[in-house]
Amino acid sequence: MTRFPIDEFKALQTPFYFYDLNLLDQTLNEIKRTARDTRYKVHYAIKANANPGILRRIQAAGLGVDCVSGGEIMAAVEAGFKPEQIVFAGVGKSDREIELALEKCIGCFNVESEPELHVINEIAKTMDKKANIAIRVNPNIDAHTHEYITTGLAENKFGINLEQLNEIINLVNSLDNVKLEGLHFHIGSQITETEPFVMLCQTINKLQDEYEALGIRFSTINVGGGLGIDYATPDKHPIPDFESYFKTFRNHLRLREDQQLHFELGRSVVAQCGSLITKVLYVKEGITKRFAIVDAGMTDLIRPALYNAHHKIENISNPNGEMHHYDVVGPICESSDCFGKEELLPSISRGDLLALRSAGAYGEIMASQYNCRTLPHSVFSEK
Ligand SMILES: *Cc1c(COP(=O)(O)O)cnc(C)c1O
Repeated sequence: MTRFPIDEFKALQTPFYFYDLNLLDQTLNEIKRTARDTRYKVHYAIKANANPGILRRIQAAGLGVDCVSGGEIMAAVEAGFKPEQIVFAGVGKSDREIELALEKCIGCFNVESEPELHVINEIAKTMDKKANIAIRVNPNIDAHTHEYITTGLAENKFGINLEQLNEIINLVNSLDNVKLEGLHFHIGSQITETEPFVMLCQTINKLQDEYEALGIRFSTINVGGGLGIDYATPDKHPIPDFESYFKTFRNHLRLREDQQLHFELGRSVVAQCGSLITKVLYVKEGITKRFAIVDAGMTDLIRPALYNAHHKIENISNPNGEMHHYDVVGPICESSDCFGKEELLPSISRGDLLALRSAGAYGEIMASQYNCRTLPHSVFSEK
């Protein structure tokens, strides 16, 4: 359980991200323990959090990294990840980014369209290189029962549709400067049920059988990320249930002996180790409501404004006070700049510090300078 060194916090400029590195290390150890199959390779989705202090820990734990931009490739290289441990995904890779990835000799490109494949082949040719390719497949998993799956539907900007897969595989095999490594899937994020992953396994089994019948074998299967975390009660589940996550793939995916299974986990690796610490500026008494106005806003943590997400809020200055209801709001000139409505919290006073929990993923990395604000800084539990 994360403990907040409140006396140290009082001396610091707010708002800031606090990272519990012990929890991060425990999480990484649990991933290593539960993904024990030597054919399983976990790539951390760096878009969740690219703080150098976090990246170094993840690199030291031996994970690979999944990048979606040239900037992320540079951050990964600077953090010490080996080029062959880097995969490069994304629907809109620029020529410059493709060149950079080829220069660095990254492990694999996850390709999302036919024109992209041609461009990678052309650029690789001019550089006298051969690019490893995984085709991102859109598995068309039924979204009606799983509304949180937003990326696995037939017609959206991500990936290649099943009907067009044959064509693109033949194309990869006909081009000289690309090499087909495997298939890539990613069905969505914050998935807390097993069933969508089981459905994904079934789709992959069927595809593999069909392609083997045609004499085509894949050396890697990449099942993407998406494992969800417990935002409501982070101290109950500080580490996601990686055991049952990997077990789902062990039980349902027929991996061939010589194949690697790649995972691209982002949120589940880093979300619980981070909290946004903010100071209460004012407590404003309305007619029917009481507002706690804090010095962090949607510029520091945009998930509530962007996705209607909710982060558990704690009054860490006065944890045992009398309980009252508050709307916890930020200083930005947007009504969506609100962290919680009618939050039941121990009595709040000006100067109290609040923690917005489970903010390690898609928090600091999405911060902006809207309203000419300064970016939040970061503090680690270990010096
Ligand atoms: C965002 C993303 C991930 C990571 O997703 P999480 O939900 O954070 O695990 C993995 N793969 C791809 C292709 C992504 O876009």
